[in-house]
Amino acid sequence: MPRNYDIAELKRLDVAHHLPAQQDYKLIEDMGGSRIVTHAEGCYIHDGDGNRILDGMAGLWCVNVGYGRKELADVAYEQMMELPFYNTFFKTVTPPTVMLAAKIASLTGGKLQHVFFNASGSEANDTVFRMVRHYWKLKGEPKRTVFISRWNAYHGSTVAGVSLGGMKGMHAQGDLPIPGVEHVRQPYWFGEGFGTDPVQFGKDCAAAIEERILEVGPENVAAFIGEPVQGAGGVIIPPPGYWQAVEAICRKYGILLVADEVICGFGRTGEWFGHQTLGFTPDIVPMAKGLSSGYLPISANAVSGDIVEVLKTGGDFVHGFTYSGHPVCAAVALRNIEIMEREGLCDRVKNDVGPYLAEALKRLDGHPLVGETRSIGLLGAVEIVAEPGTNKRWGGAEGNAGPVVRDLCIENGLMVRGIRDTIVMCPPLIIERSQIDDMVAMIA
Ligand code: PLP
Repeated sequence: MPRNYDIAELKRLDVAHHLPAQQDYKLIEDMGGSRIVTHAEGCYIHDGDGNRILDGMAGLWCVNVGYGRKELADVAYEQMMELPFYNTFFKTVTPPTVMLAAKIASLTGGKLQHVFFNASGSEANDTVFRMVRHYWKLKGEPKRTVFISRWNAYHGSTVAGVSLGGMKGMHAQGDLPIPGVEHVRQPYWFGEGFGTDPVQFGKDCAAAIEERILEVGPENVAAFIGEPVQGAGGVIIPPPGYWQAVEAICRKYGILLVADEVICGFGRTGEWFGHQTLGFTPDIVPMAKGLSSGYLPISANAVSGDIVEVLKTGGDFVHGFTYSGHPVCAAVALRNIEIMEREGLCDRVKNDVGPYLAEALKRLDGHPLVGETRSIGLLGAVEIVAEPGTNKRWGGAEGNAGPVVRDLCIENGLMVRGIRDTIVMCPPLIIERSQIDDMVAMIA
């Protein structure tokens, strides 16, 4: 049972002392504090005001196995008692860390046989930044320093993460991006290609990458980074053929391909990784969130053997964190993966609840405020429009209907996220069909 908290006092303390992530502090103050989430089970969270809310966001795109998994708590307890911490700096490692690296290598498969650990998705992308530049220097091509990314991509909140990302609002705070990151158009058909042939639109978006490579000079380009499906940008599912075209361009110019799987990894799209669902082969795969279902913070980078062979020629790779390969986080991640395997959650997303979500979202197609619904696995989006049959926005080009509809959904008992004019959803992989029905009904 949840503890008996003094919610009013917690809200007061929240306003007085706590600075939440990615928030408007004045707004939180005016609200009298944030919603206090006290406990959760399965697909539901509970708040201090007595509301039970269907969590259509799996926390923050991460609680893939759902809430209340006692065996994850048990394995954390056992590991803490046996060995709560040891580092990987002193030519030392712990058993869960090694076992998790091998497990991830078996899931990514192919050439991605080596794993570097960090604590967050942002750190994983900092690792990409440093590893890729170090790699090219060692390989004798030191001019290859430029990263190509997309506008509206999200790669985290650290300096390198924000820079690799394409969120203009984030760039504006902190004078970012740092030099050496180029942004090209995103494959967002509903927003930017509406009325055109989607496949051709996808080809044009891939061609924009090649154009930028030629402008920058292929000899200067280190890597292209992208989320297989953009999550925080609004669940942007690229048209068929986009990733194959991107991969071909990267190979043509010898550029490394990085698939940021922080959201798409661990069953979200119906395979272990989004690049497996979408059919392309990256050289580095940052992952986080679903790796431990958010029970503890851990992230990883799966790296190809070719890159590691080059790194071996450079002595120490002087990069890494106190919590790289944290044994308790690794033990929890291992058990989380075991649960996913035991319960066949990837298969469930691919063949059952994923297709069911797509079908259920179609019920919204005739709604006068809905311009498009789309989904892949258990990642879904609803585009809100001012006129049916168009992509016309309520709040001008940038839009603002998403947060309004999100707040109405929460009042009705459903947690979703509103991004400009889009409602996005990413429920736990254990969600039932009847709960998907509830989700769609509440959005309607
Ligand atoms: N990359 C992607 C694709 C993400 O969606 C996120 C977070 O949402 C990150 C990186 C950053 O992860 P974190 O918030 O754990 O630093």
